[in-house]
Amino acid sequence: MSSLFRHIPSMDSFLQDLQKDQTLASLPRQLLKDLAGEFMDLCREEIRSGVIAEESDLAWPRLVARVKAYVRNRSRPHFRRVINATGVVIHTNLGRSILARDAVASVLQGCRHYSNLELSLETGQRGSRYSHVEELLCRLTGAEAGLVVNNNAAAVLLVLDTLAKGREVIVSRGQLVEIGGSFRVPEVMKKSGAVLREVGATNRTHLADYEEAITDQTAMLMKVHTSNYRIIGFHKEVDLAELVALGRRRDLPVFEDLGSGNLFDFSPYRLMPEPTVQQVLKNGVDVVSFSGDKLLGGPQAGIIVGRKDYVERIKKNQLNRALRIDKMTLAALEATLRLYLDPAVARAQVPTLAMITASADELRAKARRLRRKLAVLADVADIGIRNGFSRVGGGSFPEQDLPTVLVTVRPRGMDLEALRQGLLSADIPVIGRVEEDAFCLDPRTVMAEEFGLLTRAIQTVLAADTD
Ligand SMILES: *Cc1c(COP(=O)(O)O)cnc(C)c1O
Repeated sequence: MSSLFRHIPSMDSFLQDLQKDQTLASLPRQLLKDLAGEFMDLCREEIRSGVIAEESDLAWPRLVARVKAYVRNRSRPHFRRVINATGVVIHTNLGRSILARDAVASVLQGCRHYSNLELSLETGQRGSRYSHVEELLCRLTGAEAGLVVNNNAAAVLLVLDTLAKGREVIVSRGQLVEIGGSFRVPEVMKKSGAVLREVGATNRTHLADYEEAITDQTAMLMKVHTSNYRIIGFHKEVDLAELVALGRRRDLPVFEDLGSGNLFDFSPYRLMPEPTVQQVLKNGVDVVSFSGDKLLGGPQAGIIVGRKDYVERIKKNQLNRALRIDKMTLAALEATLRLYLDPAVARAQVPTLAMITASADELRAKARRLRRKLAVLADVADIGIRNGFSRVGGGSFPEQDLPTVLVTVRPRGMDLEALRQGLLSADIPVIGRVEEDAFCLDPRTVMAEEFGLLTRAIQTVLAADTD
């Protein structure tokens, strides 16, 4: 074993070869050195653990190929584009919503040039960053006022901190939800300094439960949209209109955390009913908060709309300064919201909406096109088509299966797990699903212009294995 250590080439010989490689030569010299050093440590480790067991494992051509792959892999940007072939439209791990073209263009403008972010072009004096979206939000939702912050978790925190700090907020036990691990209603409540007053049972809460819990300590009635699960069977939630009426009677604001709030009416698309922000406000809710990057299909943001007196107080909260939205987000959000001025335009141009509402015919045609593209793999894999289901994701439309047409890849001579792994380390990683006997690609979330890249990625992984 000790003699093997001596067969690891010197740092200089590694560096010489790395610098001969066109793509690697442009990397900073110190980075090349560090990574070559890491690779040499890895070789030593492999000798100790027996992975490298004989001299031939350290043959120069083999080591050069390995060190190049290692350096290439370790020097790639960490945050990268991937191809989402999972069919989950709002996939939190894959960045939730992708932006409409107009939104992307607006972000580019906003960061390549100076802007009127906080300048009133009427007076030449200081303006407010909220002015860019407030009017639009009011027009689209029917609200009197609105503001935007970093994300919906921040929006909830800010609403609670402003309207209920040190006092009680009444919430049904059936709505104390956890969203993706780090957002839990009771925890956010604690952070805000508001006191949670739970009422009802997990499955059933009645209006009387709220009514009996109201004291002079009560600051607010809160409803949380149970967006990522459904209670079925023996259950009851208080009707929103009844809750609003109670709030009015007792002079208490009613706040709804709508989670993945939508401005678009999905009801013609055979999906389970999801209330729009407009409907919730129309029902008389005083303050509503929702995410920018879930069903809305915009950038990560938290949107707060509602009655002017409450929203003005929220705007003045000092905490707001720490949660404020940045200019790139604001640019993307305004452009996204503008598309909603015409619902047909929004449906066509906001990718999240287009993907959710894609018709069976569109998906079948897309699947066929992808299958034809993948026909170049016929020597190494069986390519097929089968019916399947996609999910909306992002805690929206839980339990809602969207019928889709999947393209299946069944490699001959490579197992599915190896294909799945290989695609994760591709230059543009491809994320798909392994279902039964096949690696499945859902065309719902793959753009037609990605078919070439997708095909090349699979081709590369399958070819690498036969080497
Ligand atoms: C998603 C969600 C949140 C958190 O929103 P982010 O924009 O991810 O911060 C809060 N409440 C509900 C009900 C949600 O669905």
